[in-house]
Amino acid sequence: MGEIYGIDLGTTNSCISVLKEGKPHTIPVDGSGIVPSVVSFDGKEILVGRKAWNRAAAFPEESIRSVKRLMGTVEKLTLGKNNYDPEDISAMILRYLCDEARDLEGCQVERVVITVPAYFSDAQRRATVEAGKRAGLTVERIINEPTAAALFYDHVSVVAEGAVDAKENAGEDIHALVYDLGGGTFDVSVLRIGEIIEVLASTGDTYLGGDDFDKRLVVRVLQQIKDTEGLDLTDHVPALARLSLVAERAKIALSNKALVRIQEAYIPAPKGKSCSVSMEFSREEFETLTKDLVDRTFVSVEKAMEEANLTPDKIDKVLLVGGMTRMPVISARLEQIFGAARLPAVDPDLSVANGAAIQGGIISGENCEQILVDVTPHTLSLETLSHSDDLLYECIPIIPRNTQIPVTRARTFLTTAYHQKAAELKVYQGESRDPKENTLIGKTMLELASAEAHCPILVEYSYDLNGMVRLVAEQKGYSRKTEVRIDSRNPQLFASQELEELEDEEENGEKGENRTAVNFVTRRARALIEKMEEGERRQALFNLLESYGKALREESDDVDRVEDQLLSFIEE
Ligand code: ADP
Ligand code: MG
Repeated sequence: MGEIYGIDLGTTNSCISVLKEGKPHTIPVDGSGIVPSVVSFDGKEILVGRKAWNRAAAFPEESIRSVKRLMGTVEKLTLGKNNYDPEDISAMILRYLCDEARDLEGCQVERVVITVPAYFSDAQRRATVEAGKRAGLTVERIINEPTAAALFYDHVSVVAEGAVDAKENAGEDIHALVYDLGGGTFDVSVLRIGEIIEVLASTGDTYLGGDDFDKRLVVRVLQQIKDTEGLDLTDHVPALARLSLVAERAKIALSNKALVRIQEAYIPAPKGKSCSVSMEFSREEFETLTKDLVDRTFVSVEKAMEEANLTPDKIDKVLLVGGMTRMPVISARLEQIFGAARLPAVDPDLSVANGAAIQGGIISGENCEQILVDVTPHTLSLETLSHSDDLLYECIPIIPRNTQIPVTRARTFLTTAYHQKAAELKVYQGESRDPKENTLIGKTMLELASAEAHCPILVEYSYDLNGMVRLVAEQKGYSRKTEVRIDSRNPQLFASQELEELEDEEENGEKGENRTAVNFVTRRARALIEKMEEGERRQALFNLLESYGKALREESDDVDRVEDQLLSFIEE
């Protein structure tokens, strides 16, 4: 069977750990165990980790960084002459970690637990599992990073003598807030830690991290070069690559020092030239320059506490995760809110991988007692015809966000028309009532048996421990059923194939008796509305569509008349 390894597949850095005699142990890949999530092609072979990172500075165009930000998209990445999916690049990082771990530990790495930000969507989780598969690994579980961190901190506080506070001694549950600011993502979660670890709330920002802090500093250095050398390097890629390293180094130094000197020569400039820069930069200036970024994280902190329905005094521990939390202003601000005593000092870089290793131990039945409970990061809803004035279509939640997983929830919906031939089921992810503001992650058609209008359709969503979604829909009393596993990364493929089928049907079907065609009219009207500018004509179409929906629902004699009006409007 073999041990299950824990992998923190980070935007900037990755890390691999395994349990040894019940204790998590980080494998010192690349020396420190903190492995840059960078891939580079040197013309002959693909380099990963520290070597790739070293190369990336000089050859940014032959290197890939921060691929995690692209997970769940269909963007293609080029290395040498080959194109890759984000999953392929992540697979290279996973493969590298496992091969290096094998060489260092002398045992095969086959089964893994991989962590993702709590805020990762279904598509992003799915892509992460796919990356594991492409690396030839068995992904036993995807778990949320803050949950992994909490598992580790919990373990540390259980293991380290004296670290257990009175409440834990008394066997009471404690609440922890995990603040994770990494290279590319920010996550904040509120957990209840007791017999089991439960995520009460999690929120964050998948586009906020250390890279953004570096960029602020780069802009400042570019300005300095412009002032002193008269050179504008804003669009010069080699210069930007170099300066972002310089900026990151200065940022890290400012975590320990109040002042740094940025001194850099031979900065590449256009036409084979180079330039240099020398400037002093204080921690205070840096904090001012990035205050809005830090503020944004604290807006999320408040939101997470609100969702968990807790006030700061109810948070017993604040866990810092991610390299960026070494920036002093972050712990200072957390201390202001929660008090210094609630911030335990544990390495923010290794806790996620170590927690994943503990989870691996739990799965393989090693001597670990905690059980994980995770929650859904987004609301999953179904699109329906809206009954209110402001929207035509509306998302009705089936699984609200922050529901404990695994979960299966069902809800009954009604057909709109007599003899409706099919119902289109569109699964959305997101918090808005308006489908346009949410993400369509999948859809399917449920063929219907001939029935009265308002025939009940049971729609059931399941969300598994890896964050994957399954939909089952059934026309009650007619045993018509459909089931899909959603590939949220390719919704367009699904849509176009289906549209063709519908168009065929529309051509062949007769208006009036074929209500699928009728549905098609609504769909075309809706598409038109979306394209139209605000104005009288748009409002007129909207009103027509409303009365059409009403006529359908009430099965009034007006249906055909309104439908004709609608059709002639569309065809004008
Ligand atoms: P991720 O989880 O996104 O891979 P990490 O947790 O490894 O990211 O954090 C990486 C970020 O932390 C980078 O932006 C890096 O510059 C920053 N970082 C690392 N050490 C420090 C430090 N001492 N002070 C400030 N920032 C740091
Ligand atoms: Mg991280």
